[in-house]
Amino acid sequence: MNCAFNHHTQDTMTFLGTAGARFVVARQLRASGGTWLRLGEKQLLIDPGPGSLLRCLAAQPRLHPPALDGIILTHRHLDHSNDINVMIEAMTNGGRDRRGFVLAPRDAVEVADPVIQQYVRAYVDELDYLEVGKTFSFNTFSLSTPVAHHHSVETYGLRFSLPYGTISIIADTAYFDELIDCYKGTDLLVLNVVIYQDTSPSAYKIYHLNFSQALALIEAIRPRAAVLTHFGMTMLQHNPHLLAARIEEKTGVRVLAATDGLELSILGQLQANQVK
Ligand SMILES: [Zn+2]
Ligand SMILES: [Zn+2]
Repeated sequence: MNCAFNHHTQDTMTFLGTAGARFVVARQLRASGGTWLRLGEKQLLIDPGPGSLLRCLAAQPRLHPPALDGIILTHRHLDHSNDINVMIEAMTNGGRDRRGFVLAPRDAVEVADPVIQQYVRAYVDELDYLEVGKTFSFNTFSLSTPVAHHHSVETYGLRFSLPYGTISIIADTAYFDELIDCYKGTDLLVLNVVIYQDTSPSAYKIYHLNFSQALALIEAIRPRAAVLTHFGMTMLQHNPHLLAARIEEKTGVRVLAATDGLELSILGQLQANQVK
């Protein structure tokens, strides 16, 4: 076992929220705090939506915002970015300890109504932009953003290359075939599946994955395990656990439906037996 691998035996992914559309967020039918990743010695928070700070402090075991190394924003929509400013303050001890990094699309920053406020930008060591094909290297892993997602604002999915495998998070996007190639080789695949079925008129484009598109992606990418999250109302009405079981049965890939507060051992997910 190599040394880099040793750092990663305690890696976890904690869902501080699994809400994915405005009604579910506004009524807090599911929480919207984002996802906390512990990867080796690094702690990262992805998409701190409304209530993220409270969810960190209420988590069991408690998550400690000043221990964060960085915050990553997949896109500027409110359900992903609402708490980014307060989380930057929490990460930096109110701006007293200049530290940490923020990675975000350019349109979260360099626009007339930025979601990352001017004054908190000075609190972090590094504010950098996610871009197609760009890779960020850390001690024992790297992060890349392979493709621009098809969404109503600049949006990227995240691909983490670890010593023992690859985690990808397919953030908000409409379905397009290139997603398969861009996320191929993923061992643990997280998908934002907002709607059960697209029933809107054809002229009205939905920029989210639906259930059957998630199934198709899992079938084509064939990760060792997949996690569904970011649920809108129609997904909740159809019971995400039953939907995960349906995908599992159809594809033979182990599939979980995330719940608020769920903490996954990443290695545990990758080492568990396949269902078939
Ligand atoms: Zn969203
Ligand atoms: Zn969105």
